[in-house]
Order: sequence, then C-alpha cells, then structure tokens
Amino acid sequence: MTAGVQTTGHTRLARRGVMMVISSPSGAGKGTLSRLLLEQDKEIELSVSVTTRPRRPSEIDGIHYHFIEKRRFLSMAEDGDLLEWAEVHGNYYGTPRAKVEEALAAGRDVLFDVDWQGAAQIRERMEEDVAAIFILPPTMAELRSRLHRRAEDPEDAIERRLFNARSELQEWPRFDYVVINDDLDGAFTDLKAILRAERLKRERISGAVADFIAELLG
Ligand code: 5GP
Repeated sequence: MTAGVQTTGHTRLARRGVMMVISSPSGAGKGTLSRLLLEQDKEIELSVSVTTRPRRPSEIDGIHYHFIEKRRFLSMAEDGDLLEWAEVHGNYYGTPRAKVEEALAAGRDVLFDVDWQGAAQIRERMEEDVAAIFILPPTMAELRSRLHRRAEDPEDAIERRLFNARSELQEWPRFDYVVINDDLDGAFTDLKAILRAERLKRERISGAVADFIAELLG
C-alpha cells in the first residue's frame, strides 16, 4: 500500500490509511466535530453512508448521506455492497464498500460516522487500520438540550434517541479512545491529536521506515 503522507511538516513517509471511526449517542457533537475535521484536514475523506432515514431540511443527498429506499438498501446489503450496516433508531444505515476499498488501496484516510454496531463490524473487517473514538456528552441534560436545539427531528424521534443513548453509552469498552465533548475546541484538539498520532504509528509506515533507515545508514 502506497501514497498518503504524514503532516509532520518535515520528512514525509508513505503509509497505510487511517480508518478513523467516530461514534457517539445522538447529540453528543460528533457531527460538528467530523465536519470541522473534514474542513481543516484535506488528507481525510468522509465515507458517505446510505440510509433509509428521511432527509433533514439541512441535509444534501450525496453529501451527508445517500438517501435510499428500504428495498434498495436491503438489496445492497444482500449483494455484499456494504462494508457494514445496522438498524439504528428504527432506520437502516450502511457504509458502501467500494469507496472505502479504493481509499484504503491508495493509502488515504477515511472518516466513518457510524453507531457502535458499525464500529464493531468495521473493526472486525479492518482491525489493524482502525482507530475507534467514542464521543461523550458532558451530561445527559446537555445531550437533551443539544437534540432540542438542533430541532431537526420530530419530538418522538428525539425521545427515542435519548432513550437509546442510555444503552449506547454502555458500549464504551469497544473503543480505542474516549473524548468528552464539554468544550468544542478542546474536543476538536483531542480529535486532531488522535489522528496525528495514528498517522505516526509504526505499523502504518513500516515499509517506508525500513527504506528510510536504510538510506540513513547509507
Ligand atoms: P443520524 O440519523 O443522526 O444521522 O444518525 C443516527 C446514527 O446512525 C448515528 O449514531 C450515526 O453515527 C449512525 N450512522 C450513520 N451512518 C451509519 C452507517 O453507515 N452505519 C452505521 N452502523 N451507523 C451509521
């Protein structure tokens, strides 16, 4: 696997792409954090999921999700076109396989915004390339108020998400990193630090390091 560069600002080594999985209960701020990361870091791209959930007013088809019918979703799942999929809050969500494999082969980094079930399936399939991060809200009251402030889901959907958050939070041991989003700047700094460290992992750059060391030693 080639291409991909480190953003250390000095010598750059070819490396394997980071499969950065970010999960949280709905309303913990994962969407905002992901958007900031994608805006500021041009070496990571979003895996755009397919979903059967109705589009929110602020969402654009093909950018935030590919919004599809349940029948099409199930046929994609059956044909093996999804790297992982799950039912979340009563709708289906899945990760199209082809784009991820293309990015991986090119050594590019991919960001996955998926629930804990998706995180577990991606880990099963790509163990060595995955860095899985769990974002926590500072309090349950703050989670509730963020879901209401967003005001994009009907009241019953908000209540369902809050109810589901209680069991989703129990899944924390599945993740490599935990970030508490009590302050957006602090949480974003943590996220960038995780990505930066993951890019420097020996396993991801071992081919290039061997060559570099050989060159150092002349
Ligand atoms: P929302 O409806 O708020 O956009 O997303 C609801 C939940 O589904 C979030 O936890 C989100 O991370 C998760 N999700 C989004 N896309 C996928 C996907 O492709 N697979 C899985 N397993 N979960 C997803």
